[in-house]
Amino acid sequence: MSIADNLKHIHDRIAAAAKRAGRDPSSVQLIVVTKTVDAERIREAVAAGAAILGENRVQEAKEKIEKLGQIASWHLIGHLQTNKAKYAVKLFDMIHSVDNLDLAKELDKQAGKIGKIQNVLIEVSIAGEAAKAGVALQEAAGLVREAAKLKHIAIKGLMAVPPLLDNPEMVRPYFQRLRELAAGIAQENIPDVSLQELSMGMSGDFETAVEEGSTVVRVGTAIFGKRS
Ligand SMILES: *Cc1c(COP(=O)(O)O)cnc(C)c1O
Repeated sequence: MSIADNLKHIHDRIAAAAKRAGRDPSSVQLIVVTKTVDAERIREAVAAGAAILGENRVQEAKEKIEKLGQIASWHLIGHLQTNKAKYAVKLFDMIHSVDNLDLAKELDKQAGKIGKIQNVLIEVSIAGEAAKAGVALQEAAGLVREAAKLKHIAIKGLMAVPPLLDNPEMVRPYFQRLRELAAGIAQENIPDVSLQELSMGMSGDFETAVEEGSTVVRVGTAIFGKRS
């Protein structure tokens, strides 16, 4: 199957999952995850309609964006080190992986320098795995409250990478937990915070994520095949 065929198939599956949950399919955005994918195949995906591209490393993204330009909206979905914040604000329309206040402050400072308001999501360690990125579940609301005070970042929602499990049904409770967490924090009506976006769901489980309220799914393998 071509990249275009795969993309169409993913959109169909997103739409079907949205309908099962009584949701409007247009309320779900697809991020086409291009890490390790070469420029030619990225161009092919964009020609087939990919509007948002997701990269997980700043350096790799920088090289691709220098080569390809702003052919689509670029999102950072992987871990961000504070010392790379100054590059990240120049490259990405959305940063999905803000998980500590120092990083939020640095993004605020760097975005301010270039006169930008940086859209971000707060990444939550939804399964409580200490080794994984993300703010602890219990600390997420506090981080949102503090980061909300920074004028050059705009919090748009939450993101999570749940454990990789073969059966998507096993992942469903984590998606529910992220949705409930977002709803709980939204009730606080924190000024300048919108928790509309839930970035959750990957190749193996995006339909379950959409059924549970995902507004942003991040799909790589199911579009480009296995990464080498
Ligand atoms: C690689 C990656 C994805 C895409 O994973 P696939 O299983 O290839 O769809 C999604 N989210 C993050 C954070 C990733 O690093």
